[in-house]
Amino acid sequence: MERLKVAEVLKGKNIGENVLVKGWVRTKRGNKNVAFIALNDGSTFHSVQLVADLENQNEEILKKVTTGACIAATGKVVESMGSGQSVEIQVASIEVLGEADPETYPLQKKGHTLEFLREIAHLRFRTNTFGAVFRIRHAMAFAIHKFFNDKGFFYIHSPIITGSDAEGAGAMFRVTTLDAEKAPKNDQGTVDFSRDFFAKPTNLTVSGQLEAELAAMALGQVYTFGPTFRAENSNTSRHLAEFWMIEPEVAFNEIKENMDLAEEMLQYLVRYALDNCPDDLAFLNGQYDKELLERLQFVVDNKFERLNYGEAVEILKNSGVKFEFPVDWGTDLSSEHERWLVEQHFKKPVILTNYPKEIKAFYMKQNEDGKTVRAMDVLFPGIGEIIGGSQREENYDKLMKRMEEMHIPAEELYWYLDTRKFGTCPHAGFGLGFERLILFVTGMGNIRDVIPFPRTPQNAEF
Ligand code: ATP
Ligand code: MN
Repeated sequence: MERLKVAEVLKGKNIGENVLVKGWVRTKRGNKNVAFIALNDGSTFHSVQLVADLENQNEEILKKVTTGACIAATGKVVESMGSGQSVEIQVASIEVLGEADPETYPLQKKGHTLEFLREIAHLRFRTNTFGAVFRIRHAMAFAIHKFFNDKGFFYIHSPIITGSDAEGAGAMFRVTTLDAEKAPKNDQGTVDFSRDFFAKPTNLTVSGQLEAELAAMALGQVYTFGPTFRAENSNTSRHLAEFWMIEPEVAFNEIKENMDLAEEMLQYLVRYALDNCPDDLAFLNGQYDKELLERLQFVVDNKFERLNYGEAVEILKNSGVKFEFPVDWGTDLSSEHERWLVEQHFKKPVILTNYPKEIKAFYMKQNEDGKTVRAMDVLFPGIGEIIGGSQREENYDKLMKRMEEMHIPAEELYWYLDTRKFGTCPHAGFGLGFERLILFVTGMGNIRDVIPFPRTPQNAEF
């Protein structure tokens, strides 16, 4: 008999038929006549109930049907008598594929803390919470590709190992095959990277943007979606050392179109989750965050607030709130400021533009005022910055001048500068942190709980 997934069984189209299901036992309860087994195979949030008449079952086998064990069961699909499920399976036979010793299985009981589950990340997939989170994560990855594909964007694979360390988005992880103890030295006594694998220093990428720009200047509309790495020692609930980023880059877009694209994409993704992950979201809403569904719907239904950085600073200064970090024109906003604007003041997502050039990257388009650049950050409730982007400086001379001011070596970025030399044009793009999106959509509080195997300072388990 071919296996039927639990998601299929629960659709109720097989009533009266004999089926084979396979999965992991969530719970077993019952009395001296009958055992009720909740079986989950990951295909849906819900488990299917198996009803086993003890009279017809081998006692030895049933003893091994414990929480966490993997079993295969055959039986007839019937309408359920109990409440809470539409159908159940009257078991004919059970085969135990993999036992899980109740004495040592760490998920024997329910109600573990997220902190504890983080320590057993290799097993936490088996909980309701992480099943829901990772099904939603998948749905969001799929929806991102669908969104861009439907709009005629091309998916570009930017390199993970990069030969440039001038991108300036964060501290980098060195990639080397040299032996740390016996690294060859040059005459100055420093490491001789000409004898390293790539004959030069290389790092893990912090962003695919610069490469995406190269592609956008030929293919028109492109996006990257890949892992990025930042060696910053920031132990927060919103930072990972390894995270995934989506970076669209569009020729001929200016800042306005860039904001429109970011808003449209975020609303599309949240709506996609509401439409396609109702069971998982309903669980998370009930379990962790009673306002989750309402908040998601709100983001879909309302336009984002758009204002200048300077206006935001004025609002913050006049707020009367005592922030941990003071704000003034020229300072970078921290997440307490961002979240106050979003959660307390505007009560909706906010897009800030025209930041001081001193706190933004060299490649952002310079405004006429000589002080600000066409940056845009999208700020979300509970998160703060979810997207950072800008219109790019397409003028060769202005870009060169800014690079000199910021001591960015032009020879290393000759390939980037070539786009401004040959057939330059206005263009714009942004970076969406994938895990920040998942934090928002799931309502989870810690970024370590929305990526299967989090990498953070002092932690690279598995
Ligand atoms: P932050 O100020 O929050 O540290 P950033 O300004 O350094 O972020 P950008 O370089 O603008 O980040 O990167 C684009 C997006 O990538 C951010 O808006 C955010 O969603 C995400 N992001 C950045 N750093 C991290 C990180 N360490 N972990 C997870 N996501 C991140
Ligand atoms: Mn940013």
